[in-house]
Amino acid sequence: MTFLSRFSRRSQMTAVIVLLAAVCLAGWTGCHSTPVTGRRQLLVVPEKQEVAMGVDAYGEILAKEKLSTNQQYIDMVNRVGKRIAAVADRPDYDWEFKVIASEQQNAFALPGGKVAIHEGILPICQNEAGLAVVMSHEIAHALARHGGERMSHAALQTGIQKGVQFATRQRSESEQKVILSAYGVASQYGVMLPYSRKQESEADHIGLLMMAKAGYEPEEAPRFWERFAGAKGGDSPAEFLSTHPADQRRADDLRALLPKAMEEYSKAGTRHGIGEYLAR
Ligand SMILES: [Zn+2]
Repeated sequence: MTFLSRFSRRSQMTAVIVLLAAVCLAGWTGCHSTPVTGRRQLLVVPEKQEVAMGVDAYGEILAKEKLSTNQQYIDMVNRVGKRIAAVADRPDYDWEFKVIASEQQNAFALPGGKVAIHEGILPICQNEAGLAVVMSHEIAHALARHGGERMSHAALQTGIQKGVQFATRQRSESEQKVILSAYGVASQYGVMLPYSRKQESEADHIGLLMMAKAGYEPEEAPRFWERFAGAKGGDSPAEFLSTHPADQRRADDLRALLPKAMEEYSKAGTRHGIGEYLAR
């Protein structure tokens, strides 16, 4: 007779949940915090593994995509990327900046410093500072390990569901459903969704200070998001827009952070202002 089987299924289920909650509160959340904003976060995937996954995924994506041949785009993305990388405090990253030949209005940065910009978003960037807004925002997601955080939450959620499934195996269907959907709903609406909004504004915050440190005028950040909100039309869907709702609050929050960003900008080694404009 095993130790666990001496307890009822209900108390086994309670034990699983209490254990997961205790591990989460006592250990994991205390071990990591985000750069700049200092928020404590739940991370169960080792960073080394996250970086290895990022590097692999980047290679796979680039192998499938056509790269841009527009030399102005390539030069600008590399110039802005290198300036941001220089203030990102991650000398261990093997930074890479690529332009993908696609009309998608999108951009991404993976752990390990692997950054890609789709051609389609560049006309909305308009200039180097606008491009710095997009790149520093995406790089901030990687630096703050937001993807790792999402993976960790998903792993924890699966763990709880497995525990509940095990404990409720012999209960009625409807009771199972109630418990499972209660956890599903709690995770989806109580943790997952508000969290990603938090991650978005966190990436805005970290990104704004980073672009200022890199010598780009931070006032361009709220201006970019307003431009972007107005650029919904066009032939191609704005993927970046669907994951980055460019509402007025976003621009307002960025404007509230401008005094701090201007402080960083005034201390920047070289100030580039808005930088070069993109040819139309
Ligand atoms: Zn984002």
